Amino acid sequence: MKSVLQKIWQALPAEIRMEIVLCGFLLVIFGIIQIPSLFAHPLVLSHPPEKAWQQIPISEKEIIHGDTSKKQVIFTFDAGGSDASAQEILQVLAKHHVTGTFFMTGKFIEANPQTVKDIVAAGSEVFNHTYDHPYLTTLDEASITDELSKMNATLKATADIESGPLFRPPYGDIDSRVIAAAYKAGYEAVYWTVDARDWMEPSVTADEVKSNILSNISPGTIYLMHVGDSITGSILDEVFTDIEAKGYKIVSLTQGL
Ligand SMILES: [Zn+2]
Repeated sequence: MKSVLQKIWQALPAEIRMEIVLCGFLLVIFGIIQIPSLFAHPLVLSHPPEKAWQQIPISEKEIIHGDTSKKQVIFTFDAGGSDASAQEILQVLAKHHVTGTFFMTGKFIEANPQTVKDIVAAGSEVFNHTYDHPYLTTLDEASITDELSKMNATLKATADIESGPLFRPPYGDIDSRVIAAAYKAGYEAVYWTVDARDWMEPSVTADEVKSNILSNISPGTIYLMHVGDSITGSILDEVFTDIEAKGYKIVSLTQGL
């Protein structure tokens, strides 16, 4: 008994049968070559793999210091204005083998794209400082989400990475409503332990900033410094050297939590 398919097959002219066999053969070859390579290389080839600091778990709270059980401190650099101290900061981080931690605004990224690329290329951790540096407690939930996502999109467009899931409220202006809105948007708030007051330049001297940092040191301290003033770049090497001489290690934010 011949099946219907066999009858149809035998009724076909020899050259058509030949073409069908050839097509089937080519499909099998294509499958053998292509399918494993699709599995070996994910389809999103243009995006680099996520970095460890972009994948840290977050919770609905506010971070104000790192791990206080370890003799180490964290330096964070907010970037919202000029990039005056950026290159000195990067040089000092490299010299002392420290991974940098930066909180950037979207507007800073737009104004200083090459500096941002240098910071990313140096392997620094980059977190969210909103797009436009507003007082977040004055904004509704949709606007808070918008500020955070717009900064993230700007960073992605400029440096092809996303910000980590941490953010610092501009001016430290935050309340439980902002913390909850940001958490819903995928971000955990980071305040600081010690404000170095470098941002008060020129009504503060480099020596005052330096002694403010060194006299307030304790395990787990998160220091707030800024990229936009010139004091930070001028004293950072001495500050790191003095801190290391006290037996402290300087670590990035996610290394020190
Ligand atoms: Zn700021």
